[in-house]
Amino acid sequence: MQFFTDTPLPDLAPFAGLRAEVRAFLAEERARAGIESWVGSWEGFDRGFSTRLARRGWLGMAIPERYGGRERGLLERYVVLEELLAGGAPVAAHWIADRQTAPLLLRFGTEEQRRRFLPRIASGEYSFAIGMSEPDSGSDLAAVRTKAAPSGNGWRIDGAKIWSSNAHRADWMVALCRTGDTGDDRHGGLSQFLIDLKAPDIAIRPIHNLAGDHHFNEVFFDGHDIPADRIVGNPGDGWRQVMSELAFERSAPDRFLSTFRLIVELVRAAGPEPDRLVAGEIGALVARLAAVRLLSIQVAGALDRGATPNTEAALVKEVGTALEQDTPEIARRILAETPPGDRNALLEDLLAYDVLHTPSFTLRGGAREVVRGIIARGLGLR
Ligand SMILES: Cc1cc2nc3c(=O)[nH]c(=O)nc-3n(C[C@H](O)[C@H](O)[C@H](O)COP(=O)(O)OP(=O)(O)OC[C@H]3O[C@@H](n4cnc5c(N)ncnc54)[C@H](O)[C@@H]3O)c2cc1C
Repeated sequence: MQFFTDTPLPDLAPFAGLRAEVRAFLAEERARAGIESWVGSWEGFDRGFSTRLARRGWLGMAIPERYGGRERGLLERYVVLEELLAGGAPVAAHWIADRQTAPLLLRFGTEEQRRRFLPRIASGEYSFAIGMSEPDSGSDLAAVRTKAAPSGNGWRIDGAKIWSSNAHRADWMVALCRTGDTGDDRHGGLSQFLIDLKAPDIAIRPIHNLAGDHHFNEVFFDGHDIPADRIVGNPGDGWRQVMSELAFERSAPDRFLSTFRLIVELVRAAGPEPDRLVAGEIGALVARLAAVRLLSIQVAGALDRGATPNTEAALVKEVGTALEQDTPEIARRILAETPPGDRNALLEDLLAYDVLHTPSFTLRGGAREVVRGIIARGLGLR
């Protein structure tokens, strides 16, 4: 792909000092929590952690100062994200707002929405959920049926969302709703809305995942009224806006670092003179990790320059999530050969967590087959 041969690879070395500061902060946080290591970074919803991260200036880094942000480059932010994920930090309380909602409002929100929401995202006060999927529209997002109809001075919402991560804890949801007919292009008639999840007439029901944890939800709107100024962008522009959100969602380090700590513990457990076969398996994993990281950094550099490399972002997700899914399988094979006395508890905990969670990694942010379709189209193969 020409993008990857022609796009300069940004240099993250100038941010080594920042990297070290974040690492030291995470060590302090682990000490504060009284634990040696976090397992399950994704499900770690800890508003206190997010607030302390914000105080250090590591939340809202891509938000301009006039909206309460830090106005740092995307590459500095990238370094912070890498460290948070590599350390397994509990990021769920701020992740969606910082990754998706803030850029969405910056691009498409009104001045009033930016002034109200962005400072509270940058301080860690507001947590957001994503309201895209519905019972009959996951991959086929254009089939969204939740309706937003003009009502009095605002909008009335009727319908249901599904798989909404952390909706039971978040303050707000950005929901994709139908505001008009599909039109000729099938992507018309959709709009995005800011919905206050604490409203008493919204019903939020848990869905337990494979591990038995409550992370997902179904969210029901039964004639829920919202003010007119809660629409994001122009009516009917929802599809275009959602697609721009997904470019940020697909290419970030969270698409290949979710199982990083398992790789680290495997290397540690293998020791300085590993068995040849074990060294080969781990070496191949590390080589794949290094390659996808470089792709992701190139995409981050392009986003930083204002480009929209959607195909390349989708490629990072495809290659990254494949690596994440292979990691526990390879770890399991290696551990099967390891005498029980030589195993370490953290490695076993990480493996147990990843075995139960990695099956979902090729679904979240877009199912694998659909993402491959996007890549094929981008390459002109479809
Ligand atoms: C951990 C996790 C967190 C999530 N968080 C959220 C969230 O916060 N908010 C939210 O809105 N959604 C969320 N989702 C939902 C996610 O976006 C959807 O699961 C995903 O888009 C797939 O939709 P679906 O589940 O309806 O599956 P379906 O679309 O029914 O797909 C089922 C299978 O059919 C295949 N398939 C579907 N269409 C095609 C096609 N055209 N060509 C080839 N194969 C196809 C898919 O690849 C998949 O394997 C989350 C999902 C997971 C796993």
